[in-house]
Amino acid sequence: MNDRRIRREAREANRQLELGPHPDLHSIQSWLEVKRGKPITIVELPALRGDDLCGLWVSYKGCDVVVHAPPESAFHQRHITLHEFAHMILNHQRTATSLELVHLPGLPETPLNVLGRRSFADDDEAAAEYLADLLMARILPHIQDPPDDQSGFNKVFG
Ligand SMILES: [Zn+2]
Repeated sequence: MNDRRIRREAREANRQLELGPHPDLHSIQSWLEVKRGKPITIVELPALRGDDLCGLWVSYKGCDVVVHAPPESAFHQRHITLHEFAHMILNHQRTATSLELVHLPGLPETPLNVLGRRSFADDDEAAAEYLADLLMARILPHIQDPPDDQSGFNKVFG
């Protein structure tokens, strides 16, 4: 898929999201939970090394889990989460990667699939990253961050 098609796919997905007048992370999450018919849990996993892979989407039969490394800031955490939400919105499915997932406490042993970043040359990754940017642009005007929060676009997201 070329870059233009990737962007078009992401823009169309973004347009289909009905989030009301004041969209935020929660309204995107609620929209997805209804669409996918299962709850989404967001978990921080200190064992995840943020320099290599900072986010994962782990899909179970009864729930979806977004796993993220300890974030550098609220902005960073939001971006990781939006990136994983973007994979869900775009309905990206992939079977388990070579990644050895640490067992997540309180969750069933075997996920249906795990989606982690492999390469940015990957079309799915490019589309998810672009959609995450679009989503961020939609929710950003409605967010009040603490003044000491540092923005950082310098990370690579899983
Ligand atoms: Zn990704």
